[in-house]
Amino acid sequence: MAAVFLVTLYEYSPLFYIAVVFTCFIVTTGLVLGWFGWDVPVILRNSEETQFNTRVFKKQMRQVKNPFGLEITNPSSASITTGITLTTDCLEDSLLTCYWGCSVQKLYEALQKHFYCFRISTPRALEDALYSEYLYQEQYFIKKDSKEEIYCQLPRDTKIEDFGTVPRSRYPLVALLTLADKDDREIYDIISMVSVIHIPDKTYKLSCRILYQYLLLAQGQFHDLKQLFMSANNNSTPSSNSSPEEKNTDRSLLEKAGLSESEVEPPEENSKDCVVCQNGPVNWVLLPCRHTCLCDGCVKYFQQCPMCRQFVQESFALCSQKEQDKDKLKSL
Ligand SMILES: [Zn+2]
Ligand SMILES: [Zn+2]
Repeated sequence: MAAVFLVTLYEYSPLFYIAVVFTCFIVTTGLVLGWFGWDVPVILRNSEETQFNTRVFKKQMRQVKNPFGLEITNPSSASITTGITLTTDCLEDSLLTCYWGCSVQKLYEALQKHFYCFRISTPRALEDALYSEYLYQEQYFIKKDSKEEIYCQLPRDTKIEDFGTVPRSRYPLVALLTLADKDDREIYDIISMVSVIHIPDKTYKLSCRILYQYLLLAQGQFHDLKQLFMSANNNSTPSSNSSPEEKNTDRSLLEKAGLSESEVEPPEENSKDCVVCQNGPVNWVLLPCRHTCLCDGCVKYFQQCPMCRQFVQESFALCSQKEQDKDKLKSL
């Protein structure tokens, strides 16, 4: 029966071939336009439809207020013999305690103690946790909302000129910021900040920098404060004493590996310098490379970082959509 049908079709050969070609055309068009619901990779489909597949995993974020700020003023001039100038910027009255020559091992044990035993909310608590494994300690009172420059130096009579060859057992300087007022410790999640600072000396000339900053939470966790890599804003004039790397990394991100939630300081101001469209304000941080270079409109088109080509595993927004809408309403 089928054979007879085919033979009949063959006799009308022009119609038969036209029908076959037409059927193939319809099927191909269907595949390309996604009529059958099969996930066939095609380039002609509308980008709005494919963006669901390409969108990278968005990291769950929690915003917290960090009352502490600490920077090194003029890092190029700092040394063990001449001392170092630190600039503090705290939201509440705080205490800055500097521990010179602090034991590396004891510091990490202290952070573990903060997690398991007692909270390091006062300088006394850190000193107990360190078992006084530091060479010299000094303390300063920081008034709230005042950008104070504090000059710290090892006294000459300690006769310390270096902390030995690398690898070292002591950090040159560990700066602890704690809230001075007991009541303030109830308000903030972050109760203290530990900054590990490298200062060059005659045996190890690596330039002065903050090596690590840990934010200690009232609940016992501690987070490593990390820098974001942003493209330099054309409108701002970078200060002459900061290195090129620091110009690009003026915002900080808190990221704890393995946890689904992280904390980030809210950005003070958005700069309009998305590296792709050169128009939208930069808002998206790509992980793990921490490049902050894309606006809300462009982020969905990238599975690889446009700066370093690294595959994006996760991303998060500096400023959520709701906040942006609020800002827009305010400006209207
Ligand atoms: Zn853009
Ligand atoms: Zn990157």
